[in-house]
Amino acid sequence: MLLRVSTLLLRTLREDPADAEVPSHRLLLRAGYVRRAAPGGYTWLPLGKLVLDRITAIVRDEMTAIGDQEVHFPALLPAEPYRTSGRWSEYGDDIFTLADRKGAEHLLAPTHEELAALLVKDLFTSYRDFPVTLFQIQTKFRDEARPRAGLLRGREFLMKDAYSFDLDAAGLQAAYDRHREAYRRIFTRLGLDFTTVHAMSGAMGGSASEEFLAATPAGEDTYVGCTRCDYAANTEAVVTGAPAAGDPDAHPPVEVHDTPETPTIASLVDLANERALAGRTGWTAADTLKNVVLSVRKPGAERAELLVVGLPGDREVDLKRVEAALHPAAVAVFDDWAAHPELVRGYLGPQILAKHGVRYLVDPRVVTGTAWLTGANEPGRHATDVVCGRDFVPDGTIEAAEVRPGDPCPACGDGELTLRRGIEVGHIFQLGRRFTDAFTVDVLGPEGKPVRPTMGCYGIGVSRAVAAVAEQHHDDRGLVWPAEVAPCDVHVVSAGKGPQLDAALELGERLAAAGLRVLVDDRTHVSAGVKFTDVELIGIPRAVVVGRRLADGYVELRDRAGGERTELSVADVVARLL
Ligand code: ATP
Ligand code: MG
Ligand code: MG
Ligand code: MG
Repeated sequence: MLLRVSTLLLRTLREDPADAEVPSHRLLLRAGYVRRAAPGGYTWLPLGKLVLDRITAIVRDEMTAIGDQEVHFPALLPAEPYRTSGRWSEYGDDIFTLADRKGAEHLLAPTHEELAALLVKDLFTSYRDFPVTLFQIQTKFRDEARPRAGLLRGREFLMKDAYSFDLDAAGLQAAYDRHREAYRRIFTRLGLDFTTVHAMSGAMGGSASEEFLAATPAGEDTYVGCTRCDYAANTEAVVTGAPAAGDPDAHPPVEVHDTPETPTIASLVDLANERALAGRTGWTAADTLKNVVLSVRKPGAERAELLVVGLPGDREVDLKRVEAALHPAAVAVFDDWAAHPELVRGYLGPQILAKHGVRYLVDPRVVTGTAWLTGANEPGRHATDVVCGRDFVPDGTIEAAEVRPGDPCPACGDGELTLRRGIEVGHIFQLGRRFTDAFTVDVLGPEGKPVRPTMGCYGIGVSRAVAAVAEQHHDDRGLVWPAEVAPCDVHVVSAGKGPQLDAALELGERLAAAGLRVLVDDRTHVSAGVKFTDVELIGIPRAVVVGRRLADGYVELRDRAGGERTELSVADVVARLL
């Protein structure tokens, strides 16, 4: 491949764009990789598209290497499956919804668990068909409250999303582990400095979940890392002791205590308002009640201080219940969750809290409790079991409601926790049966009885990864791409005209013929100085400058990252580059 700067759709900028807050945004704009086209929407220019495609290729390569099969779902979807799963209302303002010409409601998919479950239901009928994992690389749409930092948080962005289907928890665990390893390989190949942190399962409501955070001050996630061991955790989910085992179906044994008092929604709201938590965030009771299940326990406390039980937003029945919930007399409604599984399908509490900037901890066992509530695996148990803290193991599963640096490491006990910032580039979940329950995905089991597959889902922000790499690989002069993702392998610059230009083009063609990706700066109307500035800004790993020394048969090889410059004969430079 050979690109000529003279004809390339490329305009580099001398000045920092006013609205670019973080280095990746600033540099990707200045170096001509992307252009802003809409709020949270970016046009990929040729150089940017090359990087995006290289990252996409690495992701695809590693996914197919673990046996995942590529599909492609539509992005424009009817509302119905998302209503069935409860996510139409859970996502709330975060999804783009629209009506077709007949008035039928649609959405632009923020993620595709529903479609994956429906596809498997559609095609597979027997246990023999399993396991299977599907993936796609597709544009996703989310009406982010605050699109920011260019590609880091768009309203339209490229995601790789994969969905595994297994018949039992062991199968799911294996699929999850496979993806965790593939993700490590992917992010290593991308040249990212990343950490894997335990995360809460959030909207997905499963039991095990890990996030891959690329370290950067521009990131929006705060996590803690240990100074001694490799323990790292999202500050939203620092849990002492082992996180829930990888079996989303196994509910921990429930200790039945006498309930000292029956908590009512009103008393919970009072509690919320009383506590510092509410004071800090300015929550209103109504906000609180829109959350689903969340627990906060301070050190030494015997049970959850605050457990928020709320409702997914805007379905008719739920709206009534939200209103009812604000009235103390309506408390009875909440005593019988098992009879209203649709009520608790949602689990957006953490996202809502995050929006309010509240730090909190989630006990994975309570999240499992949520999965039980959503999946109604154990009909007959009541939400009050959860509300009263019966799902808490009394010996202090949750250490602290807030983590400070300086706190002892819960894993090794020796080191201290320090606060770090990162951006989430990947996220893996053990979903369990939430979606296969919602769509009654049953297949014939080995004993002739139906079995219901259990799911995992695995996401990578592909376009975000472009920015994450740029965040970690730049200096004050421009981008410094790692070789595996650079738009080109070599940037050949003709410093002058005439023979220098001819030699630069000839060299470029030779290198391209040998299989390298080559950018040749063949412009005749700009100075060598401008070209050199662009070499640094664009950040291709190696540059060859064809200048005055060509008369003696020499060119200069420059290394972008290390800054070394070496004078070599043309023949030697070719040998060095190939
Ligand atoms: P975040 O916490 O940053 O909002 P998320 O947890 O909502 O991300 P997931 O639902 O886990 O995102 O989606 C999988 C991946 O998609 C994320 O790990 C992230 O890399 C990427 N992603 C999510 N939202 C965006 C966005 N608005 N712009 C770019 N990439 C995104
Ligand atoms: Mg998000
Ligand atoms: Mg997240
Ligand atoms: Mg996530």
